[in-house]
Amino acid sequence: MAEQRRTEETLQATRAELARAARITTIGELTASIAHELNQPLAAVVANADACVAWLSREKPDLAEARSAAERATQGATRASEVIARIRSLITKATPEKSQVQINRIIEQTAALAEGQAARNHVAIKLELSPDIPIVFGDSIQLQQVILNLVMNGIEAMTSVTDRPKLLVLRSTPENEGQIRVSVEDSGVGLNEEVTRRLFEPFFTTRAKGMGMGLSISRSIIEAHGGRLWAESNGTSGATFQFTLPSEDRPTT
Ligand code: ADP
Repeated sequence: MAEQRRTEETLQATRAELARAARITTIGELTASIAHELNQPLAAVVANADACVAWLSREKPDLAEARSAAERATQGATRASEVIARIRSLITKATPEKSQVQINRIIEQTAALAEGQAARNHVAIKLELSPDIPIVFGDSIQLQQVILNLVMNGIEAMTSVTDRPKLLVLRSTPENEGQIRVSVEDSGVGLNEEVTRRLFEPFFTTRAKGMGMGLSISRSIIEAHGGRLWAESNGTSGATFQFTLPSEDRPTT
């Protein structure tokens, strides 16, 4: 019996790992198609904005032509944002497979996945998991993706820190009304005003190799689960990202 259970557990873990790998590959492939799909409307924006400037810079500015070039630029920008909206819904609504989820297990698995990256960056990961967390109903792979993204961002935010310990704390706490809360606290560069305002915008990134989709996708995933994801500056240094989720036994409204 025990043998059989172990085999089943291994099988299940392998299946989850495979599904995760498949999603990540899909996102990798999506990056290329996002770039491709966005290029055309963005090129149109640039060309029309250039044309608009040219019409205005004439000795006798042609306002009618300038106006229609500006309108075409607006259309290009609208098309670009439609592409983004489409991609977002594609990623987040891709067949969520909901089941009973023990969030503490997911946090532990994610911390284990990030361990190598943390060690390379001299970051210590600490877990403060409440034993009283109710079961949530959700897509464990999507939720793992969200936590992994927050963890990687936290590690990244501490790369330039030299004057204090690089510490990442992952917490789970029960909240009112059967909600649960997961938070990821770092001692990194923190959030300035502009970053705070734009964090969750698609394609907002301050990193040379960043894509700026992580937080936007994470927020969509959490909202699709009926929760909320937000960020705060810590008092002294660093940032805390946290999300809530309704637990399984909360009455649905
Ligand atoms: P990416 O990681 O590709 O930049 P994200 O959407 O995950 O995309 O993050 C967007 C931006 O938010 C980052 O480029 C960074 O400026 C900021 N950010 C995210 N997490 C943190 C954090 N823990 N501390 C400080 N800034 C952060």
